[in-house]
Formats: sequence, C-alpha cells, structure tokens
Amino acid sequence: MSKFVNNNDLLMLRNVSHIYNQESLKIKVLNNINLRVLKGEIISLIGPSGTGKSTLLNIAGLLEKPTLGSVNLNGTNCTKLNEDSKTMLRGSEIGFVFQSHRLFNEFSAVENVMLPQLIMGKSKIKSEKNSIELLSILGLKKRLDFRPAKLSGGEAQRVAIARALANSPSLILADEPTGNLDATSANNVFEILYKLVKSLNISCIFATHNNDLAKLMDRKIILKNGSIIG
Ligand code: ADP
Ligand code: MG
Repeated sequence: MSKFVNNNDLLMLRNVSHIYNQESLKIKVLNNINLRVLKGEIISLIGPSGTGKSTLLNIAGLLEKPTLGSVNLNGTNCTKLNEDSKTMLRGSEIGFVFQSHRLFNEFSAVENVMLPQLIMGKSKIKSEKNSIELLSILGLKKRLDFRPAKLSGGEAQRVAIARALANSPSLILADEPTGNLDATSANNVFEILYKLVKSLNISCIFATHNNDLAKLMDRKIILKNGSIIG
C-alpha cells in the first residue's frame, strides 16, 4: 500500500490525463485529474456532454488505461496490473450502471443478476439465491422471471443496479443511470441506489445532468473541458 493512501480512501486518481488517438487526430479529454473518493462516499459528477465524464468513469473502472497518471483502488496501484488482474479486480470490486440498462434481452431479471456471479465462480444455487434477495430488496420480487422487454425503464434500471451489486463491490460507477427516465422513476432509482450504497458502505460516483439529484449526494464534482473546476 502506498504511503499516500489513507485507510478511508477507496479510490484515488492521481494526475490522470487522457488522450484518445483517433487516426491522426489526438483528442485530449482529461487534463491532470486528481480525485479521491472515500469509503462509503457518494459523489455526483456533472458537466456538459463531451466533457469527459464517461472517460473518467471508464478509467476509474479500469476499463480504460489513462495516458498519464495512476489509479489506486482499495490500496492496489492498478496502473501496473496486467489485463487479467484488472478483470478480476473489476469483477470483485466494481459495479457499473449505465444510461441504458444493458441487460441481456434473452435472459430473465434473475438470470441477468446471476451472470456476473457465475463469471466470478459462484455456484448456480448461491448466485440464484443472492439474485432473488437483491431483486426483492429493489422491489422486484414480482418481476424475477421477466425479461427486460417486459420491464418498465425504472424497473430495468433497478435490475441493472442489482446486477451491479451482485458481487458485493466496494465501488459503484453510475454513468447517467437516470438519464433516460421520467422524473418520478429517476428519483425512485436514485433513492434506492442511495439507500443501498449508504447501508452497505459502498462508494459511488454518479454522473448526472440532474442538479436536484446532485444536491442530495455527499459531494459534487464539476468537470469542464477535461478538468475538475469545482
Ligand atoms: P461525456 O461522458 O462527458 O459526454 P465522454 O467521456 O464520453 O464525455 O467523451 C469526451 C470526449 O472524448 C468527446 O469529445 C468524445 O468524442 C471523445 N471520445 C470518447 N471516447 C472516445 C474514443 N473511444 N475514441 C475517441 N474519442 C473518444
Ligand atoms: Mg457520457
């Protein structure tokens, strides 16, 4: 563990810059980002479209390697890990929720929540039990066998939240998860995610354009042109 990392830190991005190489074009997206997320902290990430929010979440989620700088998760310097180790760490420590639910349409709600657990080696029986429990907590006990097409937008996002929580992660990265929902469903999805991350002491970065939701979180980060401006 690095001497700079405090026991209460869950995620630390240090001097992170990112450039996409698009053919001959260099697209500078993030510019020297420093971000510390405490255990159990829920942070809103706001900023105009195209400003680098998804890139930041992808780097924090070990899906993208930053051009410069380091990512430290729970005391592990991830910059030096190989792809297999990153995949394992991502699977056990990080849950993702996206703007569209990204559930598998040919699987039921329970099966969608079981999948990440089966991938991490949990037995079918345990995965199923855990999935039913999670979906019940999320108010979906009567929707267990429904496929995504038979769910409302808010219900599908709640299944996506259950999937994100399935392997008991320490970090949830939510990329505009309420962006496609009406105001009532958006509030409902946020409320349930907020309650769960707080009761389980999970950290969360929640990208949103919704200032009313941002106000309810512990802290707000404003990203503009690839830099944190507040
Ligand atoms: P936001 O989530 O805030 O809308 P993004 O992180 O998605 O912003 O994108 C930031 C900028 O990076 C945009 O200009 C986008 O076009 C560019 N970008 C994102 N992903 C890629 C990629 N894989 N290759 C090239 N450019 C990309
Ligand atoms: Mg985005």
